Amino acid sequence: MKVLFATAEAAPFIRTGGLGDVAGALPKALKENKVECAVILPLYADMKAEFRNSLQFVGSTTVALSWRNQYAGVFKSAVDGVEYFFIDNEYYFKRKGLYGHFDDGERFAFFSKAILEVLPLIGHFPDVLHVNDWQTALVPLFLDCFYREVAEYKNIKTVLAIHNIEFQGCMDKSVIGDIFGIPESHSAIAEYRNDANMLKAGIEASNKVVTVSPTYSVEILDKFYSYGLDNILEARKYKLSGIVNGIDVNLYNPKSDKALFKNYDYRNYGQKKENKHGLQALLGLPVCDKPLIGMVGRLTTQKGIDLVLAVIHEILEKDVQLVVLGTGDWKFENALQEVAKQYPTKLATAIYFSGDIASKIYGASDLFLMPSKFEPCGLSQMIAMRYGSIPIVRETGGLKDTVIPFDPVEGTGVGFTFKSYNAHDMLDAINRSLACYGDSKLWRNGVVKNAMKQDFSWKKSAKEYIELYESL
Ligand code: ADP
Repeated sequence: MKVLFATAEAAPFIRTGGLGDVAGALPKALKENKVECAVILPLYADMKAEFRNSLQFVGSTTVALSWRNQYAGVFKSAVDGVEYFFIDNEYYFKRKGLYGHFDDGERFAFFSKAILEVLPLIGHFPDVLHVNDWQTALVPLFLDCFYREVAEYKNIKTVLAIHNIEFQGCMDKSVIGDIFGIPESHSAIAEYRNDANMLKAGIEASNKVVTVSPTYSVEILDKFYSYGLDNILEARKYKLSGIVNGIDVNLYNPKSDKALFKNYDYRNYGQKKENKHGLQALLGLPVCDKPLIGMVGRLTTQKGIDLVLAVIHEILEKDVQLVVLGTGDWKFENALQEVAKQYPTKLATAIYFSGDIASKIYGASDLFLMPSKFEPCGLSQMIAMRYGSIPIVRETGGLKDTVIPFDPVEGTGVGFTFKSYNAHDMLDAINRSLACYGDSKLWRNGVVKNAMKQDFSWKKSAKEYIELYESL
């Protein structure tokens, strides 16, 4: 079986979040299961020179977008036997940052059309085109509108993966004709509530829709989670399912992670302490053995930062330290930095993006706080567990699917959870986790052991994706 994985970002080339991680790991796992999987993404100016210089030129063609005819060059590279193809167009992609430009709709409509246009050039006509999020959600519609008459395209099946329904690619509806070039016969598919909506077009036009955890696939049928698309999804429930993401267990491995002060695994869990002391010294906190709570992630409402701020004094008045790494809404960044000034011995903030510090926090922390309002899958809680940092999470989306609550009587479970989006319920979960931490035997032989022994590799999920492709 041949699969083409279309994405706006892919590790190790360029990545800003979870989608990049998935695009770096799932294709490899599919390949290990004998699926011929290639990946296609834009060639951004922001890609590091070391990768840029290793690319090979494949060829070029022209992509029609309504009345425009745009150049599309194709470059390629390979990682672990998986081929990565890059669409080159300097007008669209020689810019700072991947997203957030005024013409993102046009940029990713171009990329989506280019994916289909270059199939003969790359010599990879897939059985399944797996597209991801709003940036490539127009591919199934373009396929139906412009390519189905061509023999090689006739039987291509499409899967749309939704990594976060908050981002839909909405813009003025004039773009449907003037930029996307969608004929009037099909324009209603790309329109929703009097706007153009790229994700909605993908939900309608693809053969299957998959979210990155089973719980999220049910949650988005509810208005609280759907960002307006619940009725569209409800009508297409028959093709909706959820498969939880894995993580790259070679990359995220406390035994070999070079960013750590001291490598360790479950057997020598005691050495984890050296990472705590190293991080405390690095971030200017007193070096001690107090329980350390870590947070790594975008500082946005999605991640539950408002809950943390609502009870931040109650948290910091406990005998704990808290370390937060992240960037996002300036109001959350500022608020955290202000509190850090009041509690210099208890709270350290790192308001930037650093994979190195992220690893150090996973390695140093005893507890990992992730009280998300919604969480399509979440990778951070899985990485944390692998590093023996026990998650405290709200039971939503992928957090609910991956963090089974610890039961001290049965000795089962991997973390501490709460249900309602409520700061004091979160505080209660923190209290329960600290009580457990205080019982060192129960801690190490119970919850830490369970968490560190979990298999978060892509093996199981890759098989579920293959079943999904085969069902098509
Ligand atoms: P999302 O994709 O919603 O941002 P995920 O939990 O799925 O959240 O993935 C976030 C990934 O990005 C994790 O690998 C996490 O470690 C990493 N990450 C988030 N913020 C930062 C940061 N400021 N510095 C380094 N890594 C970060």
